[in-house]
Amino acid sequence: MIIGIDVGGTNIKSGLMDLDNKLVFDDSRPTGTTQDEIVNNLAEIINELNDKAKSDFGADVLGVGIGVPGVVSKELDHVFKCTNLGWFDVPLREILKEKTSFSVYIDNDANLAALAEHYVGSLQNVDSGILLTLGTGVGGGVIVNNKPFRGGNGLGLEVGHMVIGENFFNCSCGKNGCFETFASATAIVRHFEKMLADNNITVDHEISSKEIFDRAAKGEELPLKAVDRYTTYLAIGINNVINVLDPQVISLGGGVSAAGDFLMDMLTKKVTENLFVKGFPSAKINYASAGNKAGVIGAALLVKEEMTK
Ligand SMILES: [Zn+2]
Repeated sequence: MIIGIDVGGTNIKSGLMDLDNKLVFDDSRPTGTTQDEIVNNLAEIINELNDKAKSDFGADVLGVGIGVPGVVSKELDHVFKCTNLGWFDVPLREILKEKTSFSVYIDNDANLAALAEHYVGSLQNVDSGILLTLGTGVGGGVIVNNKPFRGGNGLGLEVGHMVIGENFFNCSCGKNGCFETFASATAIVRHFEKMLADNNITVDHEISSKEIFDRAAKGEELPLKAVDRYTTYLAIGINNVINVLDPQVISLGGGVSAAGDFLMDMLTKKVTENLFVKGFPSAKINYASAGNKAGVIGAALLVKEEMTK
């Protein structure tokens, strides 16, 4: 049995995975606010799941994997930077080793979601594939030669901060024109709200990316314009990724993936039109399919990957 933990800004999701990569138990609780509180919650979760593995499944826990929304050291032991949680330089493995009996492995959450897709989702049987998560921001996880790829220094794919144009607002990183300011779920909402304001249209509810895609699919003019711009920039980013890494599959996860065929058809057309080498085999684009527990499954799979090295 392996413990997988996915630390989000709001909730910590956790679970027990058996050696056939099946999640046999899962749970979720609020993340907490201060570093001490979050670390204590993690230790408590690990100790509780260890007890549960013994009492309910008669199994030992072989290891613990943890995903965080931030930058992790190449040794997978140290959280270097995690803006959401306000963490900088946190030696998480060392801290948790003292509070539990386990040595944890830590990785960026997008890397782990990609690992989950590779084992049980949209990147199965794919040697080289990429998961792009289109949510609040844009994250990327890469599989190369059937292994997670984290770059030469451990930073991996910070694809959300690839500059692809000029935008009407700056990115949270301080620069202008980052991919995630065009291609995240937040980005299309922000752009649509600007269009409404420019046209003096007021709305009485919070707009979601899903609403924009649904209304565009029905042929409504403004939403359709927003989706047209959205897919143009998403395609630019994807074509850049194809030009740099030439993956076999690019999988799209996160909130935007609910847009279904409508988005996929428009996007695929634009990506195909902009291929550098037309007619040559190129990345297939699909939606992520490992589900909303991919982060937990990926964290547990990280342990499996590290133990079989
Ligand atoms: Zn940025």
